[in-house]
Amino acid sequence: MILPKTNRLTNDQLAEITRIVEAFGCRIQPIVGAVRTIYAIVGDERDDLMITRLEGLNYIERIDKIQSPFKLMDKRSDLASHTIQLGGVKLGEELLVVAGQCTIDPKNPNLLYETAAAVKEAGAHVLRGGVWKPRTNPYAFQGDSKSLDILMEAHRRTGLPVDAEVMDENQLKLALDAGVHMLQVGARNALNYSLLRAIGKAVTDRPTVVLLKRSLHMGPINEFLSAAEYIASFGNPNILLCPRGTAPTLDGYRNHPDESITPLLKERTWAPVVVDPSHSVGKAVYVPACALAAVAYGADGLCIEAHVQPTKGIGDDPKQAITPDVLAETISQARQLWALTHAARVEARQ
Ligand code: PEP
Ligand code: MN
Repeated sequence: MILPKTNRLTNDQLAEITRIVEAFGCRIQPIVGAVRTIYAIVGDERDDLMITRLEGLNYIERIDKIQSPFKLMDKRSDLASHTIQLGGVKLGEELLVVAGQCTIDPKNPNLLYETAAAVKEAGAHVLRGGVWKPRTNPYAFQGDSKSLDILMEAHRRTGLPVDAEVMDENQLKLALDAGVHMLQVGARNALNYSLLRAIGKAVTDRPTVVLLKRSLHMGPINEFLSAAEYIASFGNPNILLCPRGTAPTLDGYRNHPDESITPLLKERTWAPVVVDPSHSVGKAVYVPACALAAVAYGADGLCIEAHVQPTKGIGDDPKQAITPDVLAETISQARQLWALTHAARVEARQ
C-alpha cells in the first residue's frame, strides 16, 4: 500500500509509480477516499528493489507491505503444520528443556559428564555445552575444539542430544561431522547472513535443529524472523527462536529480558520459541523467575545454563549457571505452569 505525502498523486506521479511496479509484474489500484487516495500494489510486492525504488520518490510518505517478507517462517505458510522433534519431545506438545554448561572446560571433562548426568536427572531433554565461545574480551578463553569430543562423549554416556554454538564455517563442519544435534547461532551472529546461509545449506538434508538466538540489538520482530528465513530457505525448517535478552536497560540484569516478545512472535510465525533466561538476566539467582515468566508468556521451551559446580566453571558458569537442584525445581514448576497455560491457549483457540 502506497501512501503519498499529498492527498492524491498527480497523473505524472501515478504514471511513474505504475511504471516502477509494472517492471516487477505488479499493478497499481487507487483506493479513493473522501479526502485521501491511497494506492494498493496488486501482485507480489515482496521484491525489495521495487519497494526501495518507490520509497526513494520524494512524494511518497511510506509503503505499508501487506504480504509477509518471510514466506516460510510466516504463520500462514505451508510449514505451519511442521513439527520439530528433539530429545523425545515434540515441540508444542511438551515443554522442551535444553540445559548444561555455558562453556566446556577441556581440562576438566568430568565436570561436563557430571553436569550432563545431573541435567538429565533434573529432567532436561538436550545437553548444551559451549565448545567455541564468542567472548567480548579477546584475551578471555575462546573455547577449544577438543571440547567437541567431550560433548560427544557426554552424549554417548547420557543419550541426550547435544547443542553447541558455531561461529564460522569451520566450526560448523566440525560440529556436524561430530554429530552435534542442535546448532546454536549466538546473539552476536544472529544477523551474520553469510553464516546463516552456510548453516542453512549445511543442514539441508539433515535432521539437525538450529537454535537461533535473538541479537542484542535485534529490535523488530520481522528482522528476527527474516534471519530464520535465511536458514529455512535452504530446506530445513527445524528452527527454534530464542529470545535471550537485548541490550541492557536495567541496572542489575545483564541484558533486558525479552521473553515478553513470545506472544508477538507467535502471532507471526509457527516456529517454536525457546527462551534463554540465563543470558537475559545473567545471574543464577534471577534465572528461575525469568524461566517461569517465559513459560507464562507461552514459550515452548527453555535453554538454561546449569553446572554441577558453578564455582568451578568457566565462561558464564560461575555467575549465571544454576545448580542441578535448582534446575530440577525450575523444570518441575515450569512444567506445571506450561500445562496450565497450554490448556488455556488450546481452549482460547477453540
Ligand atoms: C551462550 O549461549 O553461552 C552464549 C554465548 O549465548 P548468546 O549468544 O546469547 O550470548
Ligand atoms: Mn553463556
